[in-house]
Amino acid sequence: MKSILLGPPGAGKGTQADKLVEYLNAYHLSTGDIFRENIKNNTELGKKAKSFMDKGELVPDELTVELVWDKLKSIDSENIVLDGFPRNLFQAKALDDGLKNNNDKIDVVIYINVPEEELIDRISGRRVCPTCSRSYHIKSNPPKVDGICDYDGSKLIQREDDKEETVRNRIKVYNESTSVLVDYYKEQGILIDIDGTKTPEDVFESIKKSL
Ligand code: AMP
Repeated sequence: MKSILLGPPGAGKGTQADKLVEYLNAYHLSTGDIFRENIKNNTELGKKAKSFMDKGELVPDELTVELVWDKLKSIDSENIVLDGFPRNLFQAKALDDGLKNNNDKIDVVIYINVPEEELIDRISGRRVCPTCSRSYHIKSNPPKVDGICDYDGSKLIQREDDKEETVRNRIKVYNESTSVLVDYYKEQGILIDIDGTKTPEDVFESIKKSL
């Protein structure tokens, strides 16, 4: 099964991706994680991506699509969870066309729906593990030990682009470029609309039921 997690920044895509990947025994392809990894390792791609990410802008399509394509070619699992890709119509069409050429397709798009007013609060409480990329929230999804990743014991950090000003721009970019994908996939009949305002466990239960 090939699935996409869609939703505004702060909707809980990363948290649900972790759960879904375990449940489906799938490969987790997060473009944001790949860019952050490249920034950490100071690669050419990382240097190019950083300037856009720091402003909350999208990394240019030609870099992003090529990166996803290389990754998809190297994954031998049939089950893939795409998280953070596609983020605009160009990327969605490139993905559809590329998969079609390989007699493949996206099976389901899980749209996690959270009203805009809630997003800023959610993102400002977000903490992530720099080692395994799992995400937590200080109030709604805290780690067992304050500030420490449950899985590998790393000290949790706040993402650079989770600062309020950048977050506001990320939400604006989502509204301008990404939100059209809800209708795009609805028209294809593969969108499931999930109420993302509940607890992470309840959201995941709704996803499992819809699948
Ligand atoms: P995320 O971790 O998915 O919130 O992504 C963090 C940042 O990485 C975004 O704000 C963008 O700057 C960049 N990014 C991630 N995925 C994409 C994508 N599909 N297209 C363009 N930029 C992306």
